[in-house]
Amino acid sequence: MPAVDSKIAHQDFNEARKLGERAFELLLEHAIAPTPQCYAVAYLYAAGTHAELRAEIDQRLHSGRALDAFLFAELHERHIAVDPYKNLRGVGGDLKQLVEQLAQSVGEAGEGAAAFGRELEAGLGELDGASGADAVEAVVMRLADATRDAVRGNVQLQQQLHDTLEETETLRSELEQQRRAALLDPLTGLLNRRGMDAQFDELMAVDPSEPLSVLMVDIDHFKRINDTYGHALGDAVIRNVAEVIRKCLRGADQAVRYGGEEFIVLLPQTPEDAALHLAETIRTRIQSLRLVRKRDNFMLEPFTASLGVATRARDDTRETLLQRVDSALYASKGAGRNRVTVGAAQFAGH
Ligand code: GH3
Ligand code: MG
Ligand code: MG
Repeated sequence: MPAVDSKIAHQDFNEARKLGERAFELLLEHAIAPTPQCYAVAYLYAAGTHAELRAEIDQRLHSGRALDAFLFAELHERHIAVDPYKNLRGVGGDLKQLVEQLAQSVGEAGEGAAAFGRELEAGLGELDGASGADAVEAVVMRLADATRDAVRGNVQLQQQLHDTLEETETLRSELEQQRRAALLDPLTGLLNRRGMDAQFDELMAVDPSEPLSVLMVDIDHFKRINDTYGHALGDAVIRNVAEVIRKCLRGADQAVRYGGEEFIVLLPQTPEDAALHLAETIRTRIQSLRLVRKRDNFMLEPFTASLGVATRARDDTRETLLQRVDSALYASKGAGRNRVTVGAAQFAGH
């Protein structure tokens, strides 16, 4: 999470007013309502304090793509409100209470429980300092082990500890579920960008002689779909496209909702020709989708998507590979949409 902006907090009035005006102009220029979230994004863009946020907006503007409230909400979520562990902290809190209760009953049980009590104390201290799922989970695991040992040695505490152990296990699986949920897009169930990051890094760490391909899929004229049918049907279209993509995946393939109506597919062990083939399959299946609104059997106009394909070259980084697949996608858009373009390797410096 970006650090609190002390620079911004101490700006003088005139400076802040100028930034505020620039933020407002940016919002007006793109017809984005100045809600607190969108205004915050625009203000930080004007202030230039968040390099990645600024770079993403600049890249959008340079490529001639529109800015909109969806993008700003997403930027807010990723760069300003980012707190992927906010729910996990709640679990940490429950856990702390549980361990405190346990420590108390162990204290009351007296002899033989001293070592276990110390273990619990240590665990409590660590929970206070723990930030992030891994740290909290490590403490939970240790406490669960310590609890098991204590149960073996102390018959008196058996039932009580057994119950606590069960509760600990429940919390642990909740923690695991929440950790997974923090990496998924709620609309489609695909990975979100945060979820993609970890996967991508893992794939890039593999020997570059293993073929790795990436697809980028973007629904064509999606704005029109939204404008014609409304956002709720727009969302349904996004969900259905996600489903088409998901059904085309095999084994270790991973699909990501990369942005509003944009998807990335990570294809480990997949050379360019196989990736191109898969891209064509996805394209034709999207084109063949016939969606019917349940409420009144209204059939939506068929729609299409454009795709880019890129295969990892030896000296690619994640960024160069993403740039290449993005360029390939926009070549497809430029060439008339509803098509697949393979990214030329010279973008990677060959
Ligand atoms: P192109 O063929 O060039 O891709 O045109 P486009 O209209 O699909 O592309 P553009 O990027 O201009 O518009 C994408 C639109 O997607 C803009 C935004 O309002 C909408 N959008 C973004 N996220 C969501 C979402 O979660 N739900 C809905 N319904 N619409 C979204
Ligand atoms: Mg689009
Ligand atoms: Mg798009």
